[in-house]
Parts: sequence; C-alpha cells; structure tokens
Amino acid sequence: MKLKGISIVKGKVSGKIFIVESGNNTENIVFNVEKLDNILDKYIEYLLEEVESLDKKYREYADFYVNLLKSRRLRENIKNKDKNLVEAISLAIDEFAGQLLNTNIQHNKDLSDELKFFKNELLDFIEGRLGEFKVEKDSIVIARNLTIRQSLKIVREKVKGVALETNALTSHPVLILKDKGIPTIIGLKDIVNIAKQYKYAIIIDDEIELTNERIEIQEKSIYVDFQTDEFIMKDGTKVKIQINIDFPSEIENIKNFDVGLFRTEYLYLNGIIGKNEQKDIYEYISSKIYPKILTIRLFDLGGDKVPISIEDKNVRGIRYLLHYNRDLLNRQISAIVSANKLKNIRILIPMVSSVEEVIEVKKLIDDIKVGIMIETPSSALITDRFKKFVDFFSLGTNDLSQYTLAISRENISFQQFHPSIFRLIYYSYSKSKPKPFSVCGDMASNDLGLLAVLSFNINTISIPIPYLQRAKEIIERLEKNILSEISRKVITAYKEDDIIKCLRYYLDLLLS
Ligand code: PEP
Ligand code: MG
Repeated sequence: MKLKGISIVKGKVSGKIFIVESGNNTENIVFNVEKLDNILDKYIEYLLEEVESLDKKYREYADFYVNLLKSRRLRENIKNKDKNLVEAISLAIDEFAGQLLNTNIQHNKDLSDELKFFKNELLDFIEGRLGEFKVEKDSIVIARNLTIRQSLKIVREKVKGVALETNALTSHPVLILKDKGIPTIIGLKDIVNIAKQYKYAIIIDDEIELTNERIEIQEKSIYVDFQTDEFIMKDGTKVKIQINIDFPSEIENIKNFDVGLFRTEYLYLNGIIGKNEQKDIYEYISSKIYPKILTIRLFDLGGDKVPISIEDKNVRGIRYLLHYNRDLLNRQISAIVSANKLKNIRILIPMVSSVEEVIEVKKLIDDIKVGIMIETPSSALITDRFKKFVDFFSLGTNDLSQYTLAISRENISFQQFHPSIFRLIYYSYSKSKPKPFSVCGDMASNDLGLLAVLSFNINTISIPIPYLQRAKEIIERLEKNILSEISRKVITAYKEDDIIKCLRYYLDLLLS
C-alpha cells in the first residue's frame, strides 16, 4: 500500500511501524484532590524514568523534586486548599517557591525560580500533555498529529521517520522534525487507521509504503560537506545561508555556517534553565562554529509555543519574559554574556511588537549585538522605527502568518502563501535597510517560498540543515531577471492559489 503526502524532510528510511493513537491524551484528567497521592506517585515514576539515562546532574536535579513531591507537608498543604487539583498544586508550589525566595539565599532564590518551571511540567503531566508517550527506537512513527514534547521524544529516541495526517506544515512539532532532519511526510489522510493492518513502513521522500514484510533499504545521510555559506546564482548574485538549530547537537555535523536562529526554548523544555548550564551550552556552540556567528534567540515561551503556567499562558516571547519572568530573562542574558568570550554571539528577541520592548531589553545588555524577530504584523509594519535600536532583523514567517491571518499555524486551513504575507515580508525588508535582514521562518526553507523570498532581493536566509542541499540546487539555477518577474507576480497577486501556481510554474521551469 503506497500513500503520497507532503514531504517536510526528504529521505529514504524504513522501519517497524509505531502508531501514536492520539496527539494529546487529555481524556483521563482527574481534577479531584482525592487522587493526589496517586497522581504524584505516578509523576515521580515518570520523572525517574525520564532521567534514568541522563547525566548525573539531571538525576540529582530530579532527586530534589522527588523528595519534595513525597513530602507529607506539601501533600497536606495541597489537600487543604479546597480547590481543584490543578489549582491546589499550583498554589501550594507557589507558596513553597515564595518561602524559598524569602530566605534571601542565592541558591534558594534560583531554586524558587526553577520551581516555576517544575510546576508547569507537573501540571502538563496531570493535564495529559506529558508522559504516557513511549516510542520505539528506530521505528517509523505514524500519528494524526504530535505535540512538541512528542516530537522532542521522537528526536531523542532516534525514530527513523514520521508520517502524519495533519496538514500543518509550520506547526512547532513538525518544525522540530524538520530541523532535526527526520524524514517526515504530512497530509496523509487516514494513515493511522490504514497503518493498523501493516507492520513495516518505508518512506521515500513524499511517499510512504506500508508492508507486512521487512524490507531493508539503503538509507541516505542528510549531511553534505559544504565549504562555504555563500551560494551563487547564475548571474553572480550571492545568497548567504545561515542555519536554524533547535538542539546544540545539530552543529556537530556542520561547519562554515552562522547560526541564524538558535531556538533556546527547547533547552527550557528539557529543564536547562540555570545560568551555568546555559552558559556551557552557548559557549560550546560559539567555540565550535567560531569565527562564524551564533544568534541566540531568547526563550520564546508561552502562547501556542512552549507552555508556561496556567495563569499567564496567553502572553508569549519577550512579553512573557519582561512582564512575568524577569529572573529567567536576566539569567539567560547573563549566561549569554558570560559565554561570549569569542565575541561571536548575538542576541535575538522573539515576538517583539513594540519599540519599548527593545529598549527595555537593551538596558540589560552591554557589548553584544541585539536583533529582533519580525514575526508580528505590528513589528513588520514599523520595521523602520526599530532601526535605531537594533543591529539586525530576522523575519519569522511562521508566526507572522498566523498572527496576520488570525488562524493558528497548526490549523489545516493555514495559508502559508497568502498574498498579505508576501506584502508584509516585502514591506518590512524594504524598510529595514541598511540593517542586515534575513528570513528564518519556514518560507525560506521550502522550494516555492524560497523563490518568493529571493525574488524580493533578500539575500540572507536562515534554514534548517536538512534543507541546505536543496536550497543550493535552487539558488544555483536562478538569475536576477527570472526573480524580478516572480516578485512582480507575487506582489500583485489576488489569491494564494495564484501565487502557488506562479511559483510552481517557475520552479518547474528552473528544474526542467
Ligand atoms: C517563525 O515564527 O517564523 C520563527 C522562525 O519562529 P518559531 O518557528 O520558532 O516560532
Ligand atoms: Mg516564531
């Protein structure tokens, strides 16, 4: 049985099928305080299992929380709250964090901050966003959709490939797989039900074959040795490529490239929030890629991204850091500043919407370049107003699209190629000069989007490593006169459909 979908990461892999029945298991939530002991014990079990194979420091980190959760005092306090389970736990842990803060001992203050993170983890677990997700190593995962944590687990367990029903090509879980180069196909209607009759799967680019016999295939590596980060069009125009990473390990296989976007929120999700732990990681990457540049994006938490706490989940990015978690912001900036020994690190601020936010963040930073993400319509529309305050711009098409179109990037009707998005990209870029400007959203890492972005004369893009080879092939076939035809058509189009047809036409022409 063969099915075709949309390829997110091209590749050739085979393995045993592992079906994930539901992306988000929230059916079994029990909010009753009577269940407290049972739930906390289950979480302890989960936590210990999670850290079992990790370094000693993570196991020690877990021990502290295990003891805390076992403590009779905390449990009694939760039970006495006369609230539902989630609220009662949240309050009791906040109280404990408050007590630690009041001791005025630095270590306790840090712990108090870590407790916020821990609390969210625990509540995620209780509300079904965590845990109960086991995946087999070397398998091909088949699911309707995934959560961010499930994607992270898939990466950790070295799953070979992923096939999903969702159409949401810029959703966070899908982007994690893309950045990590795990061969992934989306848009496979009903595959979860169909796959139940089969044992094995083979993914070849945008096609998946389901079979009952194991077939070994020659797998392809995504890593190619590139000597330069400048790619040249037929007419001599240069395009500079930077890379997007989500995990420090991604830089192991690549050199000669600036990191245009390091999404640090996945460190946060893995509990790496202490200053020293962060500093070690930033310093390691900076020295590994030196003299290339490392662009560290401050934690982009909240909103639909990485869940924070229940009371402030509607704010995201820099708003959350500035108004709800200054400690975390200070700690991250201080880790970055101490890691910047080679002076090749830059800071990128996520989800900026106004100039005040930049001014506020810059008060905390000295002697390090600061740029902003243009990923809200508000920031795109006042790009020129930021110029005085920033050293560079990085445009994120994923969020820019969802906030412009008022539709979640996870939704299947999300129109990545809506005319308004191109107008905003074009407008923002034209107002950004002479500051460096790059596009780091998904638009620059799919064939059609790349053509449009380059057609606007934007000559720096930041893309995931697995897309490098393909981007090179496309750039090397391009030339200025074709690009100016494309940009004219894209900017004057009425509908998404017209833009897709136009870009596809030019892509076929180039590749023929
Ligand atoms: C974007 O929004 O385009 C972007 C690059 O940021 P993220 O995908 O991490 O939200
Ligand atoms: Mg974004």
